[in-house]
Amino acid sequence: MIDWTQVLDPLGSAGRVPALLDQVEHDEGAEAWDHLWDALCLEGETVVPASFAALPRLVALGRRSPEALSLAGSIMRGALQDHGADDLLLKCIDVVAQLRKLLDQRLKSRPTGYLHAFRDLLAAYGQYHWSAVLGDFADDFYHLCCPCCEVKVTVAIGDYGQYSAIRDWHAGDTEKRELKPASPEDLAGTGRWMYDTAVRDGQDWLAKGLTYLFGRAECPHCASTFVIAAEYTAANLPSPEE
Ligand SMILES: [Zn+2]
Repeated sequence: MIDWTQVLDPLGSAGRVPALLDQVEHDEGAEAWDHLWDALCLEGETVVPASFAALPRLVALGRRSPEALSLAGSIMRGALQDHGADDLLLKCIDVVAQLRKLLDQRLKSRPTGYLHAFRDLLAAYGQYHWSAVLGDFADDFYHLCCPCCEVKVTVAIGDYGQYSAIRDWHAGDTEKRELKPASPEDLAGTGRWMYDTAVRDGQDWLAKGLTYLFGRAECPHCASTFVIAAEYTAANLPSPEE
């Protein structure tokens, strides 16, 4: 049992959380959900100690409530924030394992908002980087430095094409080079897991985008090639110290 009097309360909103949880457990009142989102994951981003205190009840409710699952997933996306509740989060290991199962089941049902649930699951697996940055591959641009010559390279994966280029603010993307997608059998680790999950759930747009994201780009300046995902991760690793 959570001792709510022991929960740090920087926003002063934790006190009403237990009552709000009671409300949504008994009927799914939209207003109570709005208040819970404000108290536990403000603007879909900011988490507080009460967020992790509420996680066990949200995950239990997640068996029958997509809203609870979504809120629990969004809270996990904020796990690296400076929320002062690492002890509460550590106590939630079993709850987070349960959340992973429920989110995975939800993905199998191919919900609208698939990408949102997919990114929630990435966070529940501790893949905070991809959880934060994975796009819908509609018009995604990645701004990287060539690891060889350090020239700035723009990588496009989406409806504009799949290419690396030197971006010129007047002329647009110049010196375009086609990307070389990874073969699915060459994918490993998180990239492989993401790809397999997307294929399992019939999300062809996601599976295809991932082969490019984990594929290779050629630097238009020095002609060396590099793995896009590796350079992008290196340039954008979330830092809990900041
Ligand atoms: Zn280069």
